Amino acid sequence: MSHPDVMDKLVSLCKRRGFIFQSSEIYGGTGSVWDYGPLGVELKKNIKDRWWHAMVRSRDDIEGLDAAILMHPRTWEASGHVAGFVDPLVDCKTCKGRFRADKLEDARCPQKPSKQPGQHDACQLTEARQFNLMFKTHMGALEESASIVYLRPETAQGIFVNFLNVQQSMRQKVPFGIAQIGKAFRNEITPGNFIFRTREFEQMEMQFFVEPGTDMEWFETWKALRMQWHLDLGLSPDRLRFHQHTAGELAHYARAAFDVTFDFGGTLGYQEIEGVHNRSDFDLTQHQQYSSKKLEYFDQVNNKRYVPYVIETSVGADRVTLAALVNAYREEAVEGEAEGRVVLGLHPSIAPIKAAIFPLTKKDGQPEMAKTLLDDLRGAFTVDYDETGSIGKRYRRQDEVGTPYCITVDGQSTGDHTVTVRDRDSLAQERVDASQLRAYLAAKLLP
Ligand code: ATP
Repeated sequence: MSHPDVMDKLVSLCKRRGFIFQSSEIYGGTGSVWDYGPLGVELKKNIKDRWWHAMVRSRDDIEGLDAAILMHPRTWEASGHVAGFVDPLVDCKTCKGRFRADKLEDARCPQKPSKQPGQHDACQLTEARQFNLMFKTHMGALEESASIVYLRPETAQGIFVNFLNVQQSMRQKVPFGIAQIGKAFRNEITPGNFIFRTREFEQMEMQFFVEPGTDMEWFETWKALRMQWHLDLGLSPDRLRFHQHTAGELAHYARAAFDVTFDFGGTLGYQEIEGVHNRSDFDLTQHQQYSSKKLEYFDQVNNKRYVPYVIETSVGADRVTLAALVNAYREEAVEGEAEGRVVLGLHPSIAPIKAAIFPLTKKDGQPEMAKTLLDDLRGAFTVDYDETGSIGKRYRRQDEVGTPYCITVDGQSTGDHTVTVRDRDSLAQERVDASQLRAYLAAKLLP
């Protein structure tokens, strides 16, 4: 076990400091659904913005999309989800618990002492039954089978069904990709580990359409690019690793699949945060068949038609948010102080608050000067203002939420128009001319 388990500490920090709350907490909570508070929504948004920038805005060959959550029910027959998106489940007639038959070794029976389901004499496990993970609802006023719709369990299908719309409207040529960020829903049987596995979550998916025969080369390209993205986000190289799907793990249509895995520490250890898949022409061919509409690409230069192969990169926004939090959490001793500090060493580009401004005292024009600076910086960054408590306490509060820079207006500031800027990680303090502050921070906060 290489990294310590910080999950319980993080759950408590996230609640206390406004990152993540349990959904509908006042009613006792909803199972494995979480709400992002003021700082959490900024953190996750920054992660999504980095992904959108890397995948869509900085490239000519990927287009963005925001498809609806509710899709024609035939979509999910074509994709294989109606028949195949299932987990095998067993029930225990004694404790009424429900467990995944293929993950019994990870489950614990509610009877004491804690054991795996089936290991107590009293356990009465049923035969495994197949349980579909899609949430079902009805469209329109009639609750009949003809009106069934599903909450999408992945965003990818919205991309496949719009393949030609995007290609033709944007005059794209293969190879090109379509990317989108959106909610997905899965009625997970064994959810847990905070926001690691939830029933409502957000995915960031990209399907890259390529000519058959060039697919393995593109697969390698995307594998490398996606690993680099996680490194650029600040995730430690020693916590990231590829996991190659073995023949047994590979879907029948997949030509190759690698997961980017991250070490969440403790017993959770290395877990998938992103999948990079070579899906062949499976999805477009299926949709052609089920919709009776051609989904071919016409290559004008070589005068040929074909159904492109797809390289997919699929990453969970919430899972990466959790990885970023786990990666960033540290406890440190502070010289000359009995109490240490908790720091979220988040990459500055994803920190929810970029800078905090403190007047040292509430008099001598210090709050006024601090507020003028606050207004100026707000034009460029998320900035916090705090005038309560000792300066040490104010630093600790910002360290704990990952604010990279703290700016103090002190007795000298009102005279010579300089302020101190304290660096979250090195604790070094620099005096900076107040008129240069915005440019100084902008240079430091470059992505
Ligand atoms: P797992 O094996 O963990 O269930 P999966 O292989 O089913 O994941 P994919 O269908 O490939 O996952 O989904 C792509 C990404 O979406 C995952 O890498 C993960 O980051 C995210 N994801 C999938 N299911 C969940 C969930 N229930 N909660 C949060 N994120 C999820």
